Amino acid sequence: MRPEILWPMFQSISTLKGVGEKTAERLRQRVGPTVKDMCFYLPQKILRRVYLEKPKLTDDLGTMLAKIGDHERTGRRYQIFCDVAGEPLTLVYFHVKGDYLSRQLPEGSHRIVSGRLELFNGGFQMIHPESTTGNNKEEYVGVKPIYGLVAGLQQRPFYGIIQDALHKIPNVSEWITPDVLTRHGWLSFKEALIEVHHPQNHEDLTLKSPARARLAYDEVLADQLAMALVRRHHHTLPGRQISIDMGFVHDIKASLPFQLTGAQEKVLEDIFQDMAAPHRMLRLLMGDVGSGKTIVAFIAMLNAAKNGHQAVFLAPTEILARQQYTQLHKIAGAFDIKVGLFLGQQRQRQKMRDMLESGDIQLAVGTHALLEDPVQFKSLAFAVIDEQHRFGVDQRLKLMTKGDQVDLLVMSATPIPRTLVLTLYGELQVSILNEKPLGRPEIATRAVPLSRVQEVQNALERVIMRGEKAYWVCPLIEESDVLDLGPATKRFEVLDKIFPGRVGLIHGKMKGDEKSAIMDAFRGGIINILVATTVIEVGVDVPDATVMVIEHAERFGLAQLHQLRGRVGRGAKASSCLLLYDPIISKTGSERLKVMRDMADGFQIAEADLKLRGGGDVLGTKQSGMPNYIFADPYNVTSLSAARKEIAFFLDSDPNLTSDRGRAFRTLLCLFGQDQAIMYLKAG
Ligand code: ADP
Ligand code: MG
Repeated sequence: MRPEILWPMFQSISTLKGVGEKTAERLRQRVGPTVKDMCFYLPQKILRRVYLEKPKLTDDLGTMLAKIGDHERTGRRYQIFCDVAGEPLTLVYFHVKGDYLSRQLPEGSHRIVSGRLELFNGGFQMIHPESTTGNNKEEYVGVKPIYGLVAGLQQRPFYGIIQDALHKIPNVSEWITPDVLTRHGWLSFKEALIEVHHPQNHEDLTLKSPARARLAYDEVLADQLAMALVRRHHHTLPGRQISIDMGFVHDIKASLPFQLTGAQEKVLEDIFQDMAAPHRMLRLLMGDVGSGKTIVAFIAMLNAAKNGHQAVFLAPTEILARQQYTQLHKIAGAFDIKVGLFLGQQRQRQKMRDMLESGDIQLAVGTHALLEDPVQFKSLAFAVIDEQHRFGVDQRLKLMTKGDQVDLLVMSATPIPRTLVLTLYGELQVSILNEKPLGRPEIATRAVPLSRVQEVQNALERVIMRGEKAYWVCPLIEESDVLDLGPATKRFEVLDKIFPGRVGLIHGKMKGDEKSAIMDAFRGGIINILVATTVIEVGVDVPDATVMVIEHAERFGLAQLHQLRGRVGRGAKASSCLLLYDPIISKTGSERLKVMRDMADGFQIAEADLKLRGGGDVLGTKQSGMPNYIFADPYNVTSLSAARKEIAFFLDSDPNLTSDRGRAFRTLLCLFGQDQAIMYLKAG
C-alpha cells in the first residue's frame, strides 16, 4: 500500500552506512526503526567554529594552526605548549594514557586544533581540543548541527549517518499548491528536509525558518487529512441500535453512593442518544480531572450488557485498569453482570479469553492487552477508551475491529482550549463535563521554594497523624528511554528515615505486580506517603489522599500540574497542593505557578496555557492532551485551521485521493505515519 517511491525511506535504520548491529539497536530505541525516523530526528543546537589567526575569546569554538611544542605531565593534567602566530596556547588533557598524544601531536609539527578557548592564569588554553593534520581543515570551520544524544554515539559518526539517510529522500510529487509554496517561499519536501539538517543560525532551528515551517505544515496537513478521512468514513457507517433500559439505568444510579451531577446526566443523555440512533457513535468525553467521567462510561457499558451485548473499557496503564475493574466489578456484581480484567501478563489468560468469546464475560476492562489478536468478543457493541491521548489512532481502529458496528466513546481528562477542539478533535462529537461533584473541597495551592523542603517534609507528620495520605511527585531528570530515578529514590530514602515504614516508592520501571502492590498498600493505608514519578499522574483515584507535593514544579507543564493536583481533593476532606520550586526560575515558569495558585478550573487553565505558549512557553506538551508533533506547534491555531480548510476544500473534489494531487496526499499520509487512514478510501 505504501507508494514504491517511499521504500528507501522505510528501510531499516541498519541499512545506513556506518550502522552496525549495536548502533542500530541504540538508534532504534532513541530515534526509531527506519531511515525516515533518522531524517525526522532534528538537530537541537548548532555549534559554530571560526578560524582564528591568533587566540582570542569568542562565543564560538576557535580553530587555529598551531606549532606543537613541549609536552608535560603533572599528575592527572597533561599539557602541550604551542605557538600560534607568535602567541602562546596551552592544550590541556586529563586522564591521558600512554604515549598516544606524543604520537598524534609530535613536538615541532604543525597541527590544526579546534576547541573552546579560555583564559587560565593569564594565558589561553584549550581543554581536550580536536586536532588534525591540516588536510581536512575545512571540517573544522563553519556551523555544525548538534543532535540530542544517543547513548554510545558521538556527534561526528551520528552526523555521517544522518547524511546517508538524507541521500535516500526521494523526489516526491508535491501536495502543496504552487501559489502556497510561492507565497511562503517554501522549498520542496525533500529540499526542506535536507535543509533542516543544515542550520546556519539559531533561527534556523525554529519555525521561523521556511524549511521547518513547511514541514510543520506538512505534518499538520497529514493530521487533518487523516482526521477528515476518518470522519467522512464514519458518516457513512451504519451503527447498531442499542435500546436504553431506563428502569435498569435507574436501578444502577440508585445503587451508587452518590447522585450524578447535572453535567453527568446531560452527558449520559448524549451517549444514550448515540447508542439508540442508527448511526455509529464516535464521541469524545472531555472532562476536568475528578469530574466523574468513569461512572458515566460504566453506566453506558452496563446498559449495553443488559441488552445482550458486550462492552470494553481500555485503560492506558495496569494501575488504572485494575482500579477501574475493581469499581466496575463492584457495581456490576449487584446486577449479575460479569466483568473480566485483561492485562499483559496474566495467569488464566486463556480461560478469560474463552469466556469473553463465549459471552460469559459481558464487560472487559484492560490495557492494550485487549488489542491483541487472540482476544475475540462474542458481540462487542460499545467501546470506551480512557485517557485517549495515550493511544494512537491505529489502536483505536484495532479496538473497533473487535466487533461489528462498535459504538466508541473516548475520554480525556485534559481540557483543551475551546479554539482548539475543532481542529484537534474535528472527527469526534464532543461532550463536556464541566461540573465537579458537590462537596468537593477546594484544593489550597501554595508555591514554596525548595529551600524550605525540610519544613514540608516535617509537616507530613500531621498528615500521618490524621490518618490521611500524601503524594510526593518528583520529576524525571531526562524524559527519555533512560529513566533517571535519582530524585524520586533520594526523596524516598530521606522520607523513609523520617517516617520509617510509612513511605512507598512507585515509578514507571517497576513491574505491574510491584506497582499494584504499592498502590494497594497506599489505598489500604498501610503506607501514608507515596513518592512517585509521574506514573501516577493520570486517573489514579484514592479519595482519602489529601496532600500533593510536587518537587521542582517549575519543570512541569500546566496540564501536567493540573492533572497531578487533581489526584487530591477527591473526597470530602480539605486538601492541599504544594508546589516546590527552584528559585532560579524563568518568567513563564513563575507565571505557570501563579496560574496554578489562582485557578482551579481545568478549562480556564487550558486557556491560560494557550496564552503563555503564545508568549513562547514551550514546556510540557506531554499530558496536555495535545498531539506530539515532530515539527509543528500544536498550539498554532492559525496554521491548524488553514490546513483544516485546505483539506476540506480538496476532499470535496477528490474524496478518494485519486487525482495526481490526491495521490501525492497519500504519500504525505505515509510519511507522517497516518497510513491507516488510507484504509478508508475506496479502491482506485
Ligand atoms: P475523572 O473524571 O478524573 O476520571 P473519576 O471518574 O475517577 O474522575 O471520578 C472521581 C471520583 O469521584 C471517583 O471516586 C468517583 O467515584 C467520584 N464521583 C463520580 N461522580 C460523582 C458524583 N456525582 N458525586 C460524588 N462523587 C462522584
Ligand atoms: Mg479518569
